[in-house]
Amino acid sequence: MGNESGLADPGRRRVLSGLAAGSGLALIGPYARAAGTDYPFTLGVASGDPLPDGFVIWTRLAPVSGLQPSREVAVRWSVATDEGMRQVVHRGHVLARGGLAHSVHVEVAGLQPGRPYWYRFEALGEQSPIGRSRTAPAADSLAPAHFGFASCSHYELGYFSAYRHLAQEQADLVFFLGDYIYENSFASGSTKIVRAHDVIEASDLAGYRARYTQYKRDPDLQALHASAPCVATWDDHEVQNDYADRWSQDAGVSPQAFLRRRAAAYQAFYEHIPLRRTSLPQGADMRIYRRIDFGQLARFHVLDGRQYRSEQPCIPANGSHRGHIAAPDCADLSDSRRTLLGWEQEAWLHEGLARSPARWNVIAQDLLVAPMLQRDPATLSLGHWTDGWDGYAACRQRMLQAIDRSQARNPVFWGGDIHSFWTTDLHLDSQDPASKVVATEFVGTSVTSDGPPYDAFHALMPLNPHVKFFDSRQRGYVSVTLDERRMSTRFQTISERRDPAATASTLQRFVVEDGRAGALLG
Ligand code: FE
Ligand code: CA
Repeated sequence: MGNESGLADPGRRRVLSGLAAGSGLALIGPYARAAGTDYPFTLGVASGDPLPDGFVIWTRLAPVSGLQPSREVAVRWSVATDEGMRQVVHRGHVLARGGLAHSVHVEVAGLQPGRPYWYRFEALGEQSPIGRSRTAPAADSLAPAHFGFASCSHYELGYFSAYRHLAQEQADLVFFLGDYIYENSFASGSTKIVRAHDVIEASDLAGYRARYTQYKRDPDLQALHASAPCVATWDDHEVQNDYADRWSQDAGVSPQAFLRRRAAAYQAFYEHIPLRRTSLPQGADMRIYRRIDFGQLARFHVLDGRQYRSEQPCIPANGSHRGHIAAPDCADLSDSRRTLLGWEQEAWLHEGLARSPARWNVIAQDLLVAPMLQRDPATLSLGHWTDGWDGYAACRQRMLQAIDRSQARNPVFWGGDIHSFWTTDLHLDSQDPASKVVATEFVGTSVTSDGPPYDAFHALMPLNPHVKFFDSRQRGYVSVTLDERRMSTRFQTISERRDPAATASTLQRFVVEDGRAGALLG
């Protein structure tokens, strides 16, 4: 694959510099094997979408010397009950094919619930690093659990220290809530660039594959995937900034042309994430909204906030679909015929809430859900951001009413996209701060991407009294421990995104008590 051969030197340097950064994580050891250009496991390993009896294990053969697309390679996999891979309990073979970029997704089953396992692949005479995974607990389990979530890792803006520190937590399950890659790049020569993208703009299959290849060679991202199973959903940058369904952000791009781009982007996402066969893309369509049950403790309703959207509200005369601040008189904002989730996903979510047996119902998705009255930076007039939930207020209202109707226990939203930490109360009537609080929301900051201007946003908080916490000044991730009585959330920050050895600390803690919506300072 010609487009990858140029990566040889930078790829190797990154692996080595990551080691030199002294993360001290034993899991990183095997990546030193990447020194040979024929070594196929340069992107590490990953696992995800756990069930009580198994999970998906993933790798992709990507030697820096390249692999002919026509070549089929047998890959041996094994799963063990110990980290030394001595007690192998399951093994098999799978073929890696060029049509899916020599990625493999093995749905391992027949394992015990609620315990760790380790796994490894072998191909082309080489062994992969060993990954640690974990099955979901048994259906009746209320055992405490430990989660993490992260979003928005623009490679050019810094190192993925947030991923490394989350890896060290050895969580039971890690959530990626969107902007796992960025399709766009900063202007060459920008002083913001810490490490440049190999391809300026990813817009076709080769471009998106090259982007994932570069990101997945990052040692901190590899360490995180090797430390815990994951559940991933996407936001916009896995395809294009601010896209909605078949509409590009750019005026003049036909829906047909944009769907070709979307098909390429979705395929590359599938090829690089440990997803089940139910998520295999079919043309420009790919099902990633799904439920992950974690015993009786938690049900995760994982949403797709991009694929099924109505067109953004109040498109300006120039035809641009980029997000903007729409004035409150924009009638589209509250038009009940518009949807963010799409009608099928809305019905699926409402039903999944109504039937949930879980103590905690976590809605894991890409965006800030709370309404946010903000100012147009040019005109300073007040309005709502069109590209997020505020652009689809009727859909949000239906969702919050469905939560209230369902009596689903302890609904909590997790989100990203806005590159800042938020804790909010979600009211039954978002226009009325005196109405009942039906759900709690935590949004995590970016791994590296630029946050919104702190002073300008902070000045808006008196207009948004349902916001309990906001900070956009630091990069990081969110760590959550959960038991039957409380959810404890830590907003974790890294010291400096430009420092590959950045340290981590806790910015703020919150607690949500069973039976009571709304976060308390922890
Ligand atoms: Fe982002
Ligand atoms: Ca985004």
